[in-house]
Amino acid sequence: MKISSLFNGEKTVFSLEVFPPKKTMEDVSTIYKTLDGIKAVKPDFISVTYGAGGNTADLSTFEICRVIEERYNMPAIAHLTCVNSEKGDIDYILKKLKECGIENILALRGDKIEGVAPKNDFKYASDLIEYIKNSGHSFEISGACYPEVHTEAEGPVEDIFALKKKVEAGAQHLISQLFFDNSAFYTFMERVRIAGIKVPIEAGIMPVVNIGQIERMVSMCGASLPRKFTKIMSRFADNPQALFDAGIAYAVDQIVDLISNGADGIHLYTMNNPLVANRIFSAIDSMR
Ligand code: FAD
Repeated sequence: MKISSLFNGEKTVFSLEVFPPKKTMEDVSTIYKTLDGIKAVKPDFISVTYGAGGNTADLSTFEICRVIEERYNMPAIAHLTCVNSEKGDIDYILKKLKECGIENILALRGDKIEGVAPKNDFKYASDLIEYIKNSGHSFEISGACYPEVHTEAEGPVEDIFALKKKVEAGAQHLISQLFFDNSAFYTFMERVRIAGIKVPIEAGIMPVVNIGQIERMVSMCGASLPRKFTKIMSRFADNPQALFDAGIAYAVDQIVDLISNGADGIHLYTMNNPLVANRIFSAIDSMR
């Protein structure tokens, strides 16, 4: 199924993100446990992350997508990065994706890896999108967007122009970086629509259910932390169960507000935790 067909204006789309396990025999089974735990919430689709290293020997993302589609009967989007790939690597991966029956790709540049010089074939995600579009395969392509501006962008205006190029290159759907302040997302949506970007945009929500997650997330993506959020985190820092419950409640509050304000979709960063997905979806089930 092509993902953009889900955005028909009738309801808010709900999707989940999972990541492939690290490479040990013990870990491989964990993704199936995650998927078994998640399937009951019936997301509209599941996206599977891909490393920025561009390692063509690692096809786990695509294999997991195939399993999601075939065994779990849910649409899947395979993430694909290009910063460390050459055209030949991407050709190989597109062929593998076709063989796996995958129709949807989230095309990304990927983060530059310290000490590794990026390859020259693809400078931006829009280059990858254009390349996939011209590859002769009929993939549907999604892209990433940043309500609080990408960390390397010169500014919000430049970032929106770059996003527009991404859509003009062929991205038919966007998924946002996580954020904790809905007003940042609404401001971003206004800018995007003024810029003439009309594709559906899903809001990225990550329920923070342990303290370690916060520092990691903020250093990685620069999301701002509203006072209401930091108050909750410091109040329950020493009580893991209370922090878990409060983190879920905060995310549910964000989601209810986003649905009420007409968000096209909600993309939940599950961190492979089925309990998080189940708690969130049961809280908002009647609103789907
Ligand atoms: P781009 O769109 O290329 O943007 C990168 C920077 O270049 C931005 O600052 C942008 O403003 C600028 N730019 C873009 N185009 C132009 C242009 N034409 N001219 C001038 N400037 C331009 N990383 C992974 O490694 N694996 C994953 O699976 C993964 N999944 C993700 C999923 C989502 C929903 C999101 C939001 C991010 C994900 N990331 C993932 C992280 C992502 O790879 C990084 O944020 C990366 O730094 C940027 O990727 P991009 O595709 O947005 O890049």
